[in-house]
Amino acid sequence: MMSTPTVRDRTAIVTGASRGIGRAIAAALGGLGMRISINYHANRAAADEAAAAVEHAGGQALLVQADVAKAEDRARLLDETVGRFGPVDLLVNNAGVAPKVRADLLEANEQSFDEVLATNLKGPYFLSQQVARHMLEHPDRPDRAIVNIGSLSAYAASVNRGEYCVAKAGVAMMTTLFAARLADAGINVFEVRPGIIETDMTSAVKQKYDQLIVEQGLTPIRRWGRPEDIGRAVAAIASGAFPFSTGEVINVDGGFHMHRL
Ligand code: NAP
Repeated sequence: MMSTPTVRDRTAIVTGASRGIGRAIAAALGGLGMRISINYHANRAAADEAAAAVEHAGGQALLVQADVAKAEDRARLLDETVGRFGPVDLLVNNAGVAPKVRADLLEANEQSFDEVLATNLKGPYFLSQQVARHMLEHPDRPDRAIVNIGSLSAYAASVNRGEYCVAKAGVAMMTTLFAARLADAGINVFEVRPGIIETDMTSAVKQKYDQLIVEQGLTPIRRWGRPEDIGRAVAAIASGAFPFSTGEVINVDGGFHMHRL
């Protein structure tokens, strides 16, 4: 097992950890013995299951309902986490939404743009700012990190969900910005960039992608990504595997990002 005493004493916030990728990240960090603040938006039953998964894996869990798009909720998320577990060592910005309706670029409306940008970019941007300030108040803790869950949509254009692509492109620059600002403080910042992962978010397009992935070889590794694939990547970062890397993008996408001829 990769668990070490230093990891065991450490605390993580994982946003959107009730379901899908976030739950798998929380469980993988639980496997390192970490204390995990499981943030969720509305689905308390799913958050309870995520907490059980963390505890089963060997970690400790705290549930915090908070909408990452709201400043007061973000502040409460940090306060409740620190109140229960003490200083935060790892922030995983995972919470995200797809547009409610996939609409063509020339038809999509401002309301959907605002909703997607608020949750997928503005929320993580200002939560990172807030957690970074908090981390700077505790300079002696080792191996701190911020991990942003991006997407291949940062570079692959989907003209029926432009707002999602723009938000994820913003997350890529946000990673670079915070990495540059926080390197001197010993806080490394990463983007973990999933490919096509089987979760509730992709359930509506399952048949389409079954065909593209398995039959047409859209991804060189011909299978759906699993939430656990992302969890393992984040746990590697949390366990201190990349001490001399920051501003890095780690593709977890079955090789989708390669140009092939
Ligand atoms: P999901 O299954 O739909 O789960 C979304 C999670 O985010 C849930 O835990 C949800 O909480 C939470 N959430 C949504 N809005 C929130 C808000 N305003 N405040 C706090 N939490 C909120 O999604 P997923 O597929 O696991 O995606 C997770 C992340 O990976 C997202 O950033 C997504 O863009 C990214 N990603 C996914 C894929 C993919 O193929 N699935 C690919 C690339 C990137 P509730 O349970 O309370 O609703």
